[in-house]
Amino acid sequence: MSAALPAVEPPRTAVPGLDELADLVADGDVLVLSGAGLSTDSGIPDYRGASGSLRRHTPMTWQTFRRDPRGRHRYWARSYVGWPQMAAARPNAGHSAVARLQRAGLLGGVVTQNVDGLHQAAGARDVVELHGGLDRTVCLACGDVAGRAGLHRRLRAANPGFGPRVDEVNPDGDAELPDEVLDGFVMVDCTACGGGPLKPDVVFFGETVPRDRVDACFRLLEDSGSLLVLGSSLTVMSGYRFVLRAAELGIPVGVVNLGPTRGDAKVDVKVDAPLGAVLPELARRCGA
Ligand SMILES: [Zn+2]
Repeated sequence: MSAALPAVEPPRTAVPGLDELADLVADGDVLVLSGAGLSTDSGIPDYRGASGSLRRHTPMTWQTFRRDPRGRHRYWARSYVGWPQMAAARPNAGHSAVARLQRAGLLGGVVTQNVDGLHQAAGARDVVELHGGLDRTVCLACGDVAGRAGLHRRLRAANPGFGPRVDEVNPDGDAELPDEVLDGFVMVDCTACGGGPLKPDVVFFGETVPRDRVDACFRLLEDSGSLLVLGSSLTVMSGYRFVLRAAELGIPVGVVNLGPTRGDAKVDVKVDAPLGAVLPELARRCGA
């Protein structure tokens, strides 16, 4: 009897947890929850990861953006300078692997904390952007939603010659501009209502994710066979609460993340490895 066994035994991997994770994902009905760690290979900085803590700028908070016109003005000046690099970012092997898993029918949904649109650029469909998306703006006065590319064209016309010298741009594309330069930036307003202040359509630090968006994600989770967290340290409650809810529902949780996460004690399978290497292998093992 034992002589037949070696032929059907799959090759084992050197990555701890990957075999168990592949078994979990191959069962299907997987809800993916992705975070910043999935996009670092695409050159999008991870504000909360290991390298993120070294960054000079603290992220804009909703309180500052809403109450401080000067802070808002400087946010848009920095954002204008950084936008070409953001717009040029391309999906990486991890995003492509998620899209393949979806096309293979193994995913029940894709929820992302990322605002970079790279899941969709890789071909994923029906992506729920938990924290919104940088590719559009919303007017704080009338609620009009408009494309960011159009705003960038208007800003370029309003700011001829504005921008950092080459020696003012850091290797990661982050521009270190003096306040007096930022103050010289000309911001434009909403065209729909003729003057409302614009906000990127993203959830800032200190801002609440809209309740109906959270509810829609929880319904996806309740219909899922498992939760797969990709590239998130689960530091903020907006992501961590999905792990807590899955535990309440008895839904198994898998995590792929480089480094520890807040949810490690509650997850069933943890793979601590670079996503760009693990996810294509995971998809391959699942036949995707
Ligand atoms: Zn408006």
